[in-house]
Amino acid sequence: MTAIGWTSEVPDTAGMAEAVRCTHCGRVYDLDTVTKEPAMVDRHRSGATKWWAAPCCGEHVDNRGDGPRAWRLVGDYVRLDRS
Ligand SMILES: [Zn+2]
Repeated sequence: MTAIGWTSEVPDTAGMAEAVRCTHCGRVYDLDTVTKEPAMVDRHRSGATKWWAAPCCGEHVDNRGDGPRAWRLVGDYVRLDRS
């Protein structure tokens, strides 16, 4: 019915550049607004790995479960902008 649903099942990602759902607490935030730091533990991968504190729950998360270079089975978040 509605073009943009706002329910618990369909998160409101309007205005978010990189909407993701946190797998720690289930809330949604915009990956584009967090400050990412290079993860020193992953230097051999040319600094592709970044970590940050999730704005929703403060968990320290990283992007190792994301993208074509993902090597974690379960990431710290799930992208909502490309299902
Ligand atoms: Zn969270």
